[in-house]
Amino acid sequence: MFIVPEREIAGLVTPEAAFEAVEAVFAAMASGAAWNFPVVREAIGHEDALYGFKGGFDRAGGALGLKAGGYWPNNIEKRGIINHQSTVFLFDPDTGRVAAMVGGNLLTALRTAAASSVSIKHLARKDAKVLGMVGAGHQSHFQLRAAARQRPFEKVVAWNYHPEMLPKLGQTAAELGLPFEAVSLAELGAQADVIITITSAFSPSLMDAHVRPGTHLACMGTDTKGKQEVEAALLARATVFCDEVAQSVTIGEAQHAVAAGLIGERDIVQIGAVVNGTHPGRTSADEITLFDGTGVGLQDLAVAAAAVGIARARGVAIEVEV
Ligand code: NAD
Repeated sequence: MFIVPEREIAGLVTPEAAFEAVEAVFAAMASGAAWNFPVVREAIGHEDALYGFKGGFDRAGGALGLKAGGYWPNNIEKRGIINHQSTVFLFDPDTGRVAAMVGGNLLTALRTAAASSVSIKHLARKDAKVLGMVGAGHQSHFQLRAAARQRPFEKVVAWNYHPEMLPKLGQTAAELGLPFEAVSLAELGAQADVIITITSAFSPSLMDAHVRPGTHLACMGTDTKGKQEVEAALLARATVFCDEVAQSVTIGEAQHAVAAGLIGERDIVQIGAVVNGTHPGRTSADEITLFDGTGVGLQDLAVAAAAVGIARARGVAIEVEV
């Protein structure tokens, strides 16, 4: 098997490589060539940790495996390492033998940013000029960088529950050459053509009335039962897309609109169908499109497989006998 350590990932997997891998696997999911396995997530009763597995099989791309890991809230304070920890394991689909072990921490941020940027590529208006960011934590920087590749944005407007975190996001915007303004949520909705929400909130920040016609939203923070970033009524007004419907309605932003009876499971479109051309995506300049990105195991396998391929080509994958 090959090992690709966490420390190598930054030098191997570019946002473009992550984008290509994620766009392809979303397409494979929509055509039925790839599917995710049920997610396991357990509070292990030790260090307050949440541990689990996200796995799947991509018959088209040949990736079989799982991401194992979770959230250890005491890591930073006690050990000086980040709280989210994950590792991807890939298996040979022909034999079941383990094929690779890949550091999954940076890959998670890259594949999550790739997912929202796939949605922006396929669903945002071509003339989108202002990017709105709701959230300024770890993931937001990756999200901003990936989004900036999809449209020639002229400005970033941002809001965060903890405003003291915004200047750091402003630095990322400055590195991209983009003017940055901290605004109220009402101002953000009034200006933005594309909005990314990437918070760990359990109640909505962005309300239906904040969002104007023609906006594309990528709601990326809600990945657990009970979390919520936007008002459920917004999903009733929007055309709703997702990575995977089963996750969207249970742990995604759509869980609340479905529970309230505002939309049904059948109203939600897999983004891969738009990539494949079997769904038209946005059909008018006034339509609100909303991508509910919950994060699926196949995204992790896709970017990990890309990392292994690049690492082997560059001679940095470590080969071990198992
Ligand atoms: P982080 O802890 O670095 O940042 C958290 C963000 O949420 C900050 O902007 C913070 O100000 C904001 N926030 C905290 N409490 C809030 C509240 N009550 N109301 C509004 N905002 C609040 O976290 P991160 O690593 O940037 O992750 C952000 C979210 O994205 C988390 O919920 C995480 O689970 C989720 N996530 C999703 C995926 C996916 O594939 N969809 C992947 C990775 C992370």
